[in-house]
This record gives sequence, structure tokens and C-alpha cells, in this order.
Amino acid sequence: MSEEVKPESMSLCPVSVAATPEHELLCIFGTGDLGRSLGHRLLQAGYKVVYGSRRPHSCGPLPPGAQAMSHEVAAKSANLVFICVHREHYDFLETLAPQLMGKVLVDVSNNLKKNLYPEANAEYLQRIVPGAHVVKAFNTLSAWALQNGPSDANRQVYLCGNSAVAKQAVTESASKLGFTVLDRGSLSAARELEDFPLQLFPEWRLPIRLAIGLTAFFFFYLLIRDVVFAYVEQGKDISFRIMVSLANKVFPIVSIIMLSLCYLPGVIAAFLQLYRGTKYKRFPDWLDRWMLCRKQLGLLALAFASLHVLYTLIIPIRYHVRHWITANTISKIKENKTSEFDTTMAWRTDSYYSVGILGYGLYLLLGISSLPSVSNTLSWREFSFIQSKLGYLTLFFCTFHTYLYGWDKFLRPSYYKWYTLPGYMLSLVVPSVVLVLRLLLFLPCMDRTLTRIRQGWERSDAENDSKKSLLT
Ligand code: NAP
Repeated sequence: MSEEVKPESMSLCPVSVAATPEHELLCIFGTGDLGRSLGHRLLQAGYKVVYGSRRPHSCGPLPPGAQAMSHEVAAKSANLVFICVHREHYDFLETLAPQLMGKVLVDVSNNLKKNLYPEANAEYLQRIVPGAHVVKAFNTLSAWALQNGPSDANRQVYLCGNSAVAKQAVTESASKLGFTVLDRGSLSAARELEDFPLQLFPEWRLPIRLAIGLTAFFFFYLLIRDVVFAYVEQGKDISFRIMVSLANKVFPIVSIIMLSLCYLPGVIAAFLQLYRGTKYKRFPDWLDRWMLCRKQLGLLALAFASLHVLYTLIIPIRYHVRHWITANTISKIKENKTSEFDTTMAWRTDSYYSVGILGYGLYLLLGISSLPSVSNTLSWREFSFIQSKLGYLTLFFCTFHTYLYGWDKFLRPSYYKWYTLPGYMLSLVVPSVVLVLRLLLFLPCMDRTLTRIRQGWERSDAENDSKKSLLT
């Protein structure tokens, strides 16, 4: 391959006056996965691409139209150089400092772990090549995403750097590849950008742990109350119920508790604002963190509710149920007995199913409206109407559904096995508290004050002092 590439001038000028891509030559150091994908996209966008490689003559197939050459020659040929090499191998760049003087170096590197090095990779690069303008960018995209071009999920390129002109040059090339650029400031933000790809569902961690914890607790609680109790006290083996009956008790319990935990932090925040008389004081960290994962709590609650619906639908085809119905009918025939139609029971069961279906329908609406593609089309008022007003209505329906399930069971001593409360009763505690607190906030005196606080009004210190002295 030819190494005679004339250095082309690529001035670091604003987008509007930049040269067209056909006339620009960009350089990529490293012919690995990311280097190739990036080169492929740049060529498609109309740029010329040269690679700087340790082995320019044997570096494997390159995107058609690209050339490979030594690092020195390649560095001289372009003003913008993408460093698609792992940070561990940056040492060789130190020796290229003279050739890289004044160039824009785009650091795309990531690390395997957080805090692996004392400084961010981009800051390290800037230190070893002080004469260059380092910009951190493209590191949050995978080689695959780059190769395939921007899609809804990965349309954004984050960048940071100390030189505004250098950032402008990188912004220009990213925009020409179809990405939206988000400037995160100076190079000191590089570590934050390098940590982005290492995140593993950060907002999901707490909700998932909570869901696992609640599921495990209620599973063992109900196992002891239902299966172990029947075995120990009545000598009956009903362990087969674990698979469907027990699961179908645990799922709705976890679902309704998690749904109410979505709304509890909002209610706590409202009471805190009423107590403080201002909205300008920060909430405690735990409340902030809790509020930030409400969407995930809600989606997991919806998943558990969906499992409950599916498990309920299979009840009529279960062997145990079919056997019980047949045996019951035959014994009634043998004894020549009929059972009276119980209108109250008919009302109760129909209401129970109907309210449950309405609750689940609203649940689905909440879940769908939280999808970015849907929520982006809603105004803030529409979104908050669905998530707040319809959300509380969902919680009300689901709580009412559970009360209808319990009906008069709380009056019957046989339901308090080994002096423990039935699972459904435990599941009603948090939702009932949330609904009662929310109703209190509807009281005109509370509602008026809260609205004023949220519009910026603050209670004066004198009022605060007298309120505190009344409370103590
Ligand atoms: P890769 O496939 O291993 O390629 C790295 C390239 O670096 C090699 O092909 C080699 O090119 C060059 N190289 C290797 N050892 C070298 C040394 N001792 N001195 C000089 N150059 C050396 O890695 P990659 O996946 O393309 O990743 C490159 C950089 O992009 C990394 O910093 C990574 O963190 C970052 N990144 C990658 C992805 C991804 O999806 N792959 C996504 C975001 C960021 P030559 O043989 O041509 O010299």
C-alpha cells in the first residue's frame, strides 16, 4: 500500500464554513473492530480515511477505499485522528508527539472496570501528547452500532474536551454520520463518559432487589402458612399447590406492594414540603433515589400483575380444579343435593373480577405511556395526568380488588393459621396507607397550601417557628 499521502489541510472551523466531507481526510489509529466500523461509516459519509497501523501491509481487510500506513505518515496526513487503540497501548503515542502537535485526537477508549487508572484515559492521552487537542467521544457506541448507523436507541454521541474548536470539528464529523452530539463540557468529564458503558441497569438495581426480596419473603411465608401447615396440622400433602396456587398468591401481592411503592415517595415528598413550608430544600438522598426508580418499580409491578393474569387464566384447565369440580358434582348427585344460588356471592365474585380487569387495563396504560416512544408524544400535563391521576386510580382498583378477594375472611379464625395474617392482608397495608395519605392531601387546606408551595411560595420563619413549637 502506498504511504505517499499528501497532508491535507483540515482547518478547525465552525460547522457552517467547514469543508465538505469529500475534501476531508480523517485518520484512524488502529485497524481493530471499532477502527474498521468507524472507517466504514466515515467512508459512507463521504470522508477519505487513512489508517495508522503497526503493520500497514498485513493488517487484514479494510473498508474499501481506505488506506493503511505507518502511524507517523498517517498522523501527518490529517488534522483529526481517531485513537481506536486500547489505553494500555497508548505509550507509542508519546513518541509521535511531534507529528501530533496541534491535531485533534479523538479518544474513544473504555476500560474494563471503574477507577482502573488514577486518571481518565482521555486525560492521560492529553498528558502524554500535550501539544494535541484531545476530545473524548464515541466511546458510548459499540462497533456494531457504529457500523449499522444511528438508530433511536443509540443516536447520541457524548463528547467533552478543553478546546472548543476541536470539539466543533468532532461534532461536525459526528453530525455527518447522523448522530446527535451532547457536549458534556471540559476534559474533566471524561471519566464520567468512560464510566457510562460500564453501567449495568443502574436504575433497575433497587427495584429488582426489592422484587426478589418481596417474592422470596412471601413465597416462604405462604409456603409455611399453606403447605407446611396443612402437612403438620392436617397430615395433608398439598405441595403440588406450590407451582400454581402459591405462585398466583405471591405475584399479585408483590405487584400491588410495588405499585404502591411507586406512589409512596410522592406522598412522602408532599408531606415533607408541607412540613418544611418550601419546595426549595433538597429531599433526603434516599427519597431522591427512590423517586428516580419509580418507573422501574411500576414496570416490574406490571410484570408481576401480568403473571397473575396468566396464572388466573389457566385455573379452569388445572387437573386439581377439574378433579374437584367433577368430584363435587358427583357427590352432590349421589346425595341428591343442590346448592342454592347465592346472589351475594355472585355480586362479590363478579365485582372482584371486574375491578381486577379494570385495574389491569389501567396498569397496561401506565406501562405503555412510560415507553419513551409514547411519552415523547405526550405533553407534560398529559403525561402527569396518566402517571399520577390514572396511577392512583389503578392503585385504588387493585386495592379494592384485593379487599373484595378478602371479603369477610378477616372475621374467620381459621384464616389466621398459626396466628399469622393471611398474605392478602399483609399486601393491603402499604396500598391502604398510600391511598389514605393521598386522600388527606386532597383536603382543601392541604391541597391549597401544597399548590402554593409548588408555585414557589415559602412559609416565613416566624410561621415555621410557631408551627415547630406547636409540634414539640
Ligand atoms: P481491537 O479490536 O483489539 O483493536 C485495537 C487495535 O489497536 C488493533 O487492531 C491494533 O491495530 C491496535 N493495537 C493493538 N496493540 C497495539 C499496540 N501495542 N500499539 C499500538 N497499536 C496497537 O479493539 P477495538 O474493539 O477496536 O477497541 C479499540 C478502542 O475502542 C478501545 O480503546 C476500546 O475501549 C474502544 N471502544 C471499543 C468499542 C467496541 O465495540 N469494540 C466500543 C467503544 C469503544 P493495528 O494492528 O492496526 O496497529
